[in-house]
Amino acid sequence: MSDCIFCKIIKGEIPSAKVYEDEKMLVFKDIEPKAAVHLLAVPKTHFKLLSEMDEEKAENVKYMLSKIPQIAEANGCKDGYRLIINQGDDAGQTVFHLHIHILGGENLGW
Ligand code: AMP
Ligand code: ZN
Repeated sequence: MSDCIFCKIIKGEIPSAKVYEDEKMLVFKDIEPKAAVHLLAVPKTHFKLLSEMDEEKAENVKYMLSKIPQIAEANGCKDGYRLIINQGDDAGQTVFHLHIHILGGENLGW
């Protein structure tokens, strides 16, 4: 999508601190980290909301989940991490391109 900030990051039109990339997904550092390590994993295919999930999109998310443990551990989250997907206004979603927050690098509390 032309006006989507994460699509622009994927296309390289906006700079980001990339930590992992393959043909299906990109992982980069959150610009306003909420923990010692705060990464965002995004599918290269644009979709806005978790609530738009279908079989094809679920395959994409399944693929990301299969990669995230190794990526998290290689980026300072050896002792654990938390995954978050914000869905919609009540969760405070601000970027409408599905993304998985990876938080860690410290004791996160609960
Ligand atoms: P959410 O509130 O779940 O929609 O999260 C969006 C996240 O994207 C926030 O944590 C922002 O700090 C982050 N963010 C927004 N713009 C950028 C950017 N250009 N580079 C990296 N992270 C960004
Ligand atoms: Zn997008």
